[in-house]
Amino acid sequence: MESTKPTGAEIRKTFLDFFEEHKHTIVPSASLIPGGDQTLLFTNAGMVQFKDVFLGTDKRPYKRVADSQKCMRVAGKHNDLEDVGRDNIHHTFFEMLGNWSFGDYYKKEAIAWAWQLLTDVWKLPTVNIWATVFRDDQGDIPQDDEAADAWRQQPGIDPTHVLFFGRKDNFWEMADTGPCGPCSEIHLDRGIKYCDMQDVPGHICRVNGDCQRFLELWNLVFIQYNRLSPTEFEPLPARHVDTGMGFERIVSVLQDVDSNYRTDLLWPLILTTQELAGCTNEQREANFTPFRVIADHARAAAFLIADGVVPGNLGRNYVTRMIIRRAYRFGGKIGLCEPFLARVAEVVINIYGDFYPELKRNRKSILISITREEEQFQRTLDRATTQLEYLFNELIKLNQTVLTGAQAADLYTTYGMPLEITRDIAKEHGLDVDEVGFNKSMEEHRLASGAGKALGDLGGEDVDVYRQIAIQLQRQGDLPENGVAYDPYNLLEVSGKLLAIIHSNLAIQQAQPGDEVEIILPETCFYVESGGQVSDTGWIMSMDGTWEIKVNEMRRPAAGVIVHVGKVTKGNPKVGDEVIASVDADRRRDIMRNHTATHLLHAELRKVLGEHARQAGSLVAPDRLRFDFTHPEAVTPAQLAEIEAGVNQRILINYSLKITYKPLQQAVSEGAMALFGEKYSDTVRTISIGGDQPFSYELCGGTHVSETGDIGVCLITGEGSVAAGIRRIEAVTGRKAYELIQKRFGLISQISGLLDSTPETLPEKVSNLMDELNAARKVLTSMRQNQAALEFNQKLKQVSLIDGVRVMAARLNDADANTLRQIADRFRQQYPSNGVAVLGSVLDGRPTIIAAITEDLIPRGLNAVELVKFVAAPLGGGGGGKPTLAQAGGKDASKLDIALGTVEPWVKEKLHA
Ligand SMILES: [Zn+2]
Ligand SMILES: [Zn+2]
Repeated sequence: MESTKPTGAEIRKTFLDFFEEHKHTIVPSASLIPGGDQTLLFTNAGMVQFKDVFLGTDKRPYKRVADSQKCMRVAGKHNDLEDVGRDNIHHTFFEMLGNWSFGDYYKKEAIAWAWQLLTDVWKLPTVNIWATVFRDDQGDIPQDDEAADAWRQQPGIDPTHVLFFGRKDNFWEMADTGPCGPCSEIHLDRGIKYCDMQDVPGHICRVNGDCQRFLELWNLVFIQYNRLSPTEFEPLPARHVDTGMGFERIVSVLQDVDSNYRTDLLWPLILTTQELAGCTNEQREANFTPFRVIADHARAAAFLIADGVVPGNLGRNYVTRMIIRRAYRFGGKIGLCEPFLARVAEVVINIYGDFYPELKRNRKSILISITREEEQFQRTLDRATTQLEYLFNELIKLNQTVLTGAQAADLYTTYGMPLEITRDIAKEHGLDVDEVGFNKSMEEHRLASGAGKALGDLGGEDVDVYRQIAIQLQRQGDLPENGVAYDPYNLLEVSGKLLAIIHSNLAIQQAQPGDEVEIILPETCFYVESGGQVSDTGWIMSMDGTWEIKVNEMRRPAAGVIVHVGKVTKGNPKVGDEVIASVDADRRRDIMRNHTATHLLHAELRKVLGEHARQAGSLVAPDRLRFDFTHPEAVTPAQLAEIEAGVNQRILINYSLKITYKPLQQAVSEGAMALFGEKYSDTVRTISIGGDQPFSYELCGGTHVSETGDIGVCLITGEGSVAAGIRRIEAVTGRKAYELIQKRFGLISQISGLLDSTPETLPEKVSNLMDELNAARKVLTSMRQNQAALEFNQKLKQVSLIDGVRVMAARLNDADANTLRQIADRFRQQYPSNGVAVLGSVLDGRPTIIAAITEDLIPRGLNAVELVKFVAAPLGGGGGGKPTLAQAGGKDASKLDIALGTVEPWVKEKLHA
């Protein structure tokens, strides 16, 4: 690359600097995991973090904002996976540059700035730029002349380059109803050399055409309507701008390369892969797809893990697993047969780490998780591929072309082969996979294994009823614009007017005793489940004491709406009644102890195990806490003891908790630990413990004790694995810890009493008893063997002779299977040929039979397995073994003698047959 070409990092910076100069606040990218949005698997566009602002349910301290947003498009409606690797422009992970106006500037400014940045700052030739604007092909919405005029006024623009298009290309909507508006796209003519359809007769290169010559660069969306129905639009009071520009695309243009993969963002990943594979440049160019897949997937995996998603079986975790496995398999196509992807991910961290510091912070987790996932897949890939080849051959033999969903699901559950990889391999064979059937089979498999919904259906519930109620309450002035006031940090009791009752998804005026209801109050002090901490429970009562609702759960069904979920236990709650709402205080105090304890535990885990031990989930309930964290192996008992001791030491020092509110960026740059998947606003709440040099510093909206001493004591009750690379610690504090100690003390006294010992001498006492027991067992075994040998000698006298074959069918007392086998061996030593012995015994009420037949009788049709099964039949048992020695058990010990009586007739019949 020539030195005059700007680097990707410079291009990103130029974009952000440009909009900062135009008074935009520059915000960091939101996490790939959409905060507080249950309807999306991944953040897939720049506007995701501002969605609530467009919906009018949230407000920001700025009206102009710009950023570079991390995006993933790999599942659901926007799914580019199949194209990734096969062309030069598709990615799973990509960055989107965007600028926004929330009710501030509009079309004129947005268009002028876009033009200025592209032609003046980045010097793209004006003759190559085309703009499209909206003209309704259905005739319901006015044509966007405002945007067209704005374009025609730009200095140097060719007015014939402003084109009109219909709804498909130039109208944007979030859903069937709600905010929407026309958009304007900027396309770049890259010249005839980019046309890949010059051979097609009648082909004309054009904007929104079929060839690669015109590149869509930037989309400016002008939100100006609220859509009420398919044909009804009302103008919005506040109009917004939402723009998005594919970062990799603009970098490829400004670096003048014909592929996103040849920009300095991705090319170093390709070169590293090439070096690892030991390919020549010619080999690389001849087989470029694997290089693209590996570069794309390594980058996506690094960013996903940095945002706290680890490889796993469901939803986002599944996607992370799938892309690592898919990249690993493509590595095999260029001769990489050992885990290698972490080496490529390291290059990702180096390229992107300065702008996205989360990559640097989580370097170790990224590299460890990727390699572990490759190793796990490596173990099963050969078997899976063999199985798949076999299935394909069967299909081809049957003249079929589609692998069934059940087969594909079996490949995943048995061999860990993700559907996407099975599909890749199928396509390489010219075959297909039934994906609908796959999802159905996975669903059945999940349900059968009790694991709930497969592949993470994140579909949201119907929130309309709540949104409507909120809008109405706001219009009436009963609810402030920001929605229900929420303060769980101070009082445990509030009073106010009952604003709404929701029953069976409907707003009602009055509820009956026994009704399950949801209650909206103007403010609440009940904590709503978040960050792992469970919701508060409690009561809502009318001021006059005539009715009462037991609150069991809290929910936030729509932005600004908080509902108390509960059951009417007394009287008839009515909208408008004055009420008192009280949190169950004892329960809440238990929760606060557990929450603060998780922070202490987190800090201690990182101290003892290392910085890679990051929170991967938690549960803070009244009776226990659960803390999941990334760590590649089991925590040893010694480490656990050290962690527990450290936590309790910090409890005893009785640190005060310092709670402060500050800008998100400041908190993160100070090193506060953020929880991924949480939605953080621009001002965040931070909890630090340990004074000026805190040992624990987290972003956290949870409720906490004021001093660590309030926790009392913290006891770790378990440690185990939850998923590959994720461990879980469970612990109790306060009242539950005291209960546990009490219970254990009680048990110890009880056992001491039984053993006539004291707690202190208990280990020695038990150890002595174990020794005695083992010695007694040995004596018993040898006595049984002696006894059996004696009996055997007696029984030898009862051997009968049938056609020259010696047959013994004997019952021994209290002999186990081992002893019976020893005796059978002794019989065969005595009679090395022409011998059949069947020995039976009853031990602890269960019959056991051993049958032995000398080798020479096998050709004559005698078989010990057949014999033992025949004999055991009256006992209701079955058996198995070898032709010379077999064993059977049974249920009915009383029939043992009858069973043994069948031996001689069986031998007679076999010999005469
Ligand atoms: Zn063309
Ligand atoms: Zn917390």
